[in-house]
Amino acid sequence: MPSDRRMFLGAGLGVTAALASHASGLTTSAQAASSDGPPLPANVHLEPEVRAAAAHDFGRLIHKQPRGVLRPASSADIASLMRWAKDRDVKVAARGQGHSIYGRSLTENGIVVDMSAMNAIRDVRYDRVVVDAGATWRDLLDATLAQGLTPPVLTNYLGLSVGGTIAVGGIGAMSSRHGMQTDNVIALEVVTGDGNVLSCSATANPDLFDAVRAGLGQCGIVTRATLRLVRAPERIRRFQLFYRDLPSLLADQRRMLTEGRFEQLQGAVLPDGSGGWRYQLDGAISYGSGSAPDDKAVLSGLSDERGAAVIADLSYREDTLAFGKFENLLRSKGQWSNPQPWFLTFLRGSNAERVADDILAGLKGDAVGPFGRITLYPLLTRAFHTPLVRLPKEDMFFVFNLIRIPASNDAPAAERMVADNRRLYDRIREAGGVQYPVGAFAMSPGDWEVHFGSSWPQLREAKRRYDPQHLLAPGYNVF
Ligand SMILES: Cc1cc2nc3c(=O)[nH]c(=O)nc-3n(C[C@H](O)[C@H](O)[C@H](O)COP(=O)(O)OP(=O)(O)OC[C@H]3O[C@@H](n4cnc5c(N)ncnc54)[C@H](O)[C@@H]3O)c2cc1C
Repeated sequence: MPSDRRMFLGAGLGVTAALASHASGLTTSAQAASSDGPPLPANVHLEPEVRAAAAHDFGRLIHKQPRGVLRPASSADIASLMRWAKDRDVKVAARGQGHSIYGRSLTENGIVVDMSAMNAIRDVRYDRVVVDAGATWRDLLDATLAQGLTPPVLTNYLGLSVGGTIAVGGIGAMSSRHGMQTDNVIALEVVTGDGNVLSCSATANPDLFDAVRAGLGQCGIVTRATLRLVRAPERIRRFQLFYRDLPSLLADQRRMLTEGRFEQLQGAVLPDGSGGWRYQLDGAISYGSGSAPDDKAVLSGLSDERGAAVIADLSYREDTLAFGKFENLLRSKGQWSNPQPWFLTFLRGSNAERVADDILAGLKGDAVGPFGRITLYPLLTRAFHTPLVRLPKEDMFFVFNLIRIPASNDAPAAERMVADNRRLYDRIREAGGVQYPVGAFAMSPGDWEVHFGSSWPQLREAKRRYDPQHLLAPGYNVF
């Protein structure tokens, strides 16, 4: 048995005994044979370095040490882990790419299921792809683009796993047309908290399908997904427009959204380097050979500072990799691995300007760091259908994200930002907004009940049915 594949075969001996036997050498199949419960799958790792790597996430704000890490080869491995965990009341946290921000993929003394090796892209057809949930969106896109196809909605960052974004929703530049990634899921294979492997879709086990999509991993670990595909555009023309102030940015964003002139519509408020802000609209239109957009028509009647506009043409693939370039920049500056106290919310369309303006006025220049930004753009509620995706109850809402990228590894400063996030959340909630549930601040089970609102009974019932011992996704603190 290779040393990096030492196995946690101590089922029935208790974890302390298994750890002790690991410390003195390899666990043995004799120990497994003496177990009185279901045996652990033969690929739970106990090595300190493997456990340490699963003890933090991208946010680097929370640290929780698991007792072991399962690297499953199949759904059956995960199902047998769940049956083992059920007998011993051990918590289990799925981990895709570990890009959660506030310890959501962590578990203290439980087992982390590292999905990254379950990443096969199985079957690309003209309208759908079957993929293992540990695959990244980047790898999935590479496979589909080879056939001229793409998922309708990609997250801005492609280094996230399919299962990780299905757990929260998955929002991106095409969400104004196609909703969340969870709105584009056709079917799922799921290992439930009580150790069953189930298929679900709108017609098969629909309660599970609705509880798993954007259900914060509470009812099952997604192992395989069938996702919708559409024809990939050849090229993208990207328009960056700059504005003097917030009202003019928001007015043009609203207009562009309702008129549908851009296929992709996003925007941001950025530090201007001297303590103030600059306001940016990001729009994009796809086109094929011989059909480039008419810029004059696209931009007519807008109030941006036209001399500052940046218009660029990219291949579709280049365009999807833009965040990857930003990642490389942050890595080169050592800022990718600093604490990242991000804050992500949706504001009501009717008061977004007032709420955003109030919050911006109260933010100090270093609130988001030199490379951070405040993402701000509108979306139409009618594009979104996933029951557990929570949105303000209006026809239009605004994404409002503080992408805080501190320039240094200053833990007390990051903690202050986390406290500030909670204060801002309370304020936004009072104003009818909701959080996109990936941000950095603590939520109590009571907060989650308020968050899920009218969908709470559905999630609670699904939890009772599919994870009755509350073993799954403890990092969210939902139940
Ligand atoms: C740099 C960066 C960019 C981002 N950009 C976007 C963006 O453009 N759009 C967007 O919507 N979000 C974005 N996010 C947020 C991101 O979608 C979520 O944090 C997502 O959950 C992370 O995916 P992951 O694979 O890293 O999951 P992890 O961090 O590993 O896990 C996160 C949660 O998902 C659960 N989970 C993971 N895999 C599974 C599975 N197979 N089955 C069930 N539950 C599972 C975990 O238990 C955990 O609770 C971004 C985050 C970062 C750090």
